[in-house]
Amino acid sequence: MADNEKEKTAEAFQDDISYVTGYKPLILVAEDTDSNFLLISTILKKAYKLVRAVNGIEAVDLAGQYRPDLILMDIRMPHMDGMEATRILRNKGIEIPIIAVTAFAFDQDRNRILEAGCNDYIAKPISSVILKDKIQYWLNKESVS
Ligand SMILES: [Mg+2]
Repeated sequence: MADNEKEKTAEAFQDDISYVTGYKPLILVAEDTDSNFLLISTILKKAYKLVRAVNGIEAVDLAGQYRPDLILMDIRMPHMDGMEATRILRNKGIEIPIIAVTAFAFDQDRNRILEAGCNDYIAKPISSVILKDKIQYWLNKESVS
């Protein structure tokens, strides 16, 4: 086997948790912009099952319906933004990890995101390494607590 093939196999193995466990965690991706969803889906679809919401109202609905393991929550969405959706979910007692996806860069905005009930946030433009790391971190934390 050529070296680059070995690397590819190792990477695919690491990427795909279901390879080992037979189980793919379900992630609810709340994202109104198609191109952003496509990017996120390309990064995550090997290792996770994904369901998409296109606004905050749908995010609240689908979280109740699908009981995902984690939510990726875009902050700027039409009808209901990600912060409001997160507040509603927390008020309903939903405790799963919620990671905000945001273009906001200021401390003040980060604090508002965390105060709304998000566990963490990822800045746009999305880095695939950071996205995967944060998701793994919060899913692992959830499974040991
Ligand atoms: Mg948006």
